Amino acid sequence: MSPCLPDETDVVIIGGGPVGLTASQLLDRFRIAHVVVEAQDQPNEHPQAHFINTRSMEIFRELGLEATIREAAAPLDEWRHHVYATALAGERPAPSFRGASPDPVLGLVDHFPSGPDHRISPSWECNLSQPLLQGLLRAAVDRSRRATLLTGWRADLNEDRYGVEVGLRPTAGGRAHRMRCRYVVCADGARSGSRDRLGIARVQRTPTLQHLLNIHFISPALAERLRHRPAAMLYFVYSPHGIGVFVNHSLARGEFVLQRPYYPPFEDPEDFDRRTCARMIDKIVGLPTGADIRSIRTWRLEAWVAGHFQSRDGRCFLVGDAAHQILPAGGFGMNTGIAEVHNLAWKLARALQTETDDAGGDAQALLATYDAERRPVAEEAIALSRVNYESTLRAAAVIGLDWRAARWMQKTLEGLPLPMAWRRKLFRAGIWLGLSQIWLLDGSNPIGQFRRRRFNDLMKTPGKMLPMRFPRQDLGVVYHRGWLAVEPAAGHPSSAPASRAAFETGARLPHFWLRPSGGGSHSILSSLDLCTRGARGHAVPVHTLLLFGRDAFATRDWAASIDPRFAPFEVVRICESGVRESHADFVRADSDGLVPPPAVLLRPDGYLSWVAPLPRRQAQAA
Ligand SMILES: Cc1cc2nc3c(=O)[nH]c(=O)nc-3n(C[C@H](O)[C@H](O)[C@H](O)COP(=O)(O)OP(=O)(O)OC[C@H]3O[C@@H](n4cnc5c(N)ncnc54)[C@H](O)[C@@H]3O)c2cc1C
Repeated sequence: MSPCLPDETDVVIIGGGPVGLTASQLLDRFRIAHVVVEAQDQPNEHPQAHFINTRSMEIFRELGLEATIREAAAPLDEWRHHVYATALAGERPAPSFRGASPDPVLGLVDHFPSGPDHRISPSWECNLSQPLLQGLLRAAVDRSRRATLLTGWRADLNEDRYGVEVGLRPTAGGRAHRMRCRYVVCADGARSGSRDRLGIARVQRTPTLQHLLNIHFISPALAERLRHRPAAMLYFVYSPHGIGVFVNHSLARGEFVLQRPYYPPFEDPEDFDRRTCARMIDKIVGLPTGADIRSIRTWRLEAWVAGHFQSRDGRCFLVGDAAHQILPAGGFGMNTGIAEVHNLAWKLARALQTETDDAGGDAQALLATYDAERRPVAEEAIALSRVNYESTLRAAAVIGLDWRAARWMQKTLEGLPLPMAWRRKLFRAGIWLGLSQIWLLDGSNPIGQFRRRRFNDLMKTPGKMLPMRFPRQDLGVVYHRGWLAVEPAAGHPSSAPASRAAFETGARLPHFWLRPSGGGSHSILSSLDLCTRGARGHAVPVHTLLLFGRDAFATRDWAASIDPRFAPFEVVRICESGVRESHADFVRADSDGLVPPPAVLLRPDGYLSWVAPLPRRQAQAA
């Protein structure tokens, strides 16, 4: 049955991937009527993303979804490591030259040696397969009274100065529909038709760095085997039978993805049917896994960023993969997209409220800050994903698997005037020869011993192996231009170390625990909860002026010094733990050495628009 389609709405979100669905939940929080259009009728079951960073989890916490997501995810002990090995689960990497069986594990990195850091956030990272996350988000969108979710419809758009006309076509055929809205969030993925329609070019494009096969499979036998060892999120396996990265999506379900490079035109995705893939997995793993192959996808490793995140007429916004393609080395794509819609949603809510009154100019200025704030962050994530990718190549190179040799062979064979069948054979022989370097890792020969030592040295050198956690890109993002009362020193980098939790203009408010003052209540909340609290009783998302300590309450009229474009704002008074102050709204529940300034202006998304300078005495001590 065809759903009842509205003729107009405030916002249309094109694309119901993780970023579009999160955008819907955020708009719902600001009570904005909207329509989410998703081309696929059934959710995509092939997993891509799985690592959800702390900032995304904070956003899900704000939406009341953190507990549900964490419950569905694997416990930390099932994914806290990265493992480097010559066989995933077999006892031996290869027949040994001299009979000794060397250890297949080359190295192991624990990325949570002291567990999650609860001093910097009430939340922490999570490992949950993208289809499961999307399922939970979709269920939440289904429950929303302000969202209409249309699945099996393809959207396109036509923008003018006053709004956007969105055309809807059912993918299974049937009657088309047109709808008008005031803003469009384009969350339609890397091949975004909206981006093309808006004439926004992709810039800073890399060439294709690698072709990858993604093989999604279920193997309870492999999961059982891995349970008895330090479990990892990523297993980098350099086997004489092939190299690949096994992504552990769930040990409980025995769900994995093998990412394995392939080399067109000498290898074709068509060569890898289910049986071939299952055999290949057993060989690389080192024992029979009984892998049930669910799906096989190809993926081209390349990166770019959209030239603009906002359309020329100002009513359409690119988010997530529609705005950037980040190499999947570091888990930035979806997380960056989630942070983008969090940045955008409150601005849209404010613009929808204020563009009908005299403050329309301010609404446009506010919306323009989305591009100014988020594009540099995406560019930096792309640069870092390249560094990460190169670190994985370096690790392989020290054990004799130099990607440059494979690239050179590929190029040379491409130019050889021989029939393709011969060149394919030569290519296979070359790859076999290259992979045979792994046999040398047998501990009883000097070359193998030397390479293992070099691998160990690399592991011990800070910053040389692929990290799992990226504090600067996660909680340490700092906006240098945008919706700020004073613009801090301009330019890149857009992030500061998050370990140095600091009150800084353009940065996220540091987390600390608070109790409502006046006693009676035992409820405790994070400082981050103050931005959602400010929404109460207001039709638009509001800023919050936080005043710290008795001196700040009394000494100045801080509110008078705030630029009117940040109005309306709530005032919240916070005093230090152990201090009795009748005017305080909250008392700090921890005293962790974080020295607050007298006053800060908190945006609805938890970032600071303005920070009052510390009194000289405190600044010297800090
Ligand atoms: C192997 C791999 C591993 C990854 N791991 C991570 C990770 O651990 N962490 C991380 O943060 N990121 C990771 N990523 C990146 C992540 O998967 C993407 O960044 C994420 O899927 C982007 O979400 P999105 O909602 O922007 O786009 P998509 O997930 O691509 O969703 C876009 C949606 O729009 C729909 N659509 C398209 N056109 C239309 C239209 N005209 N009308 C209606 N609907 C339309 C599509 O059907 C689709 O459902 C990984 C990527 C890969 C390939």
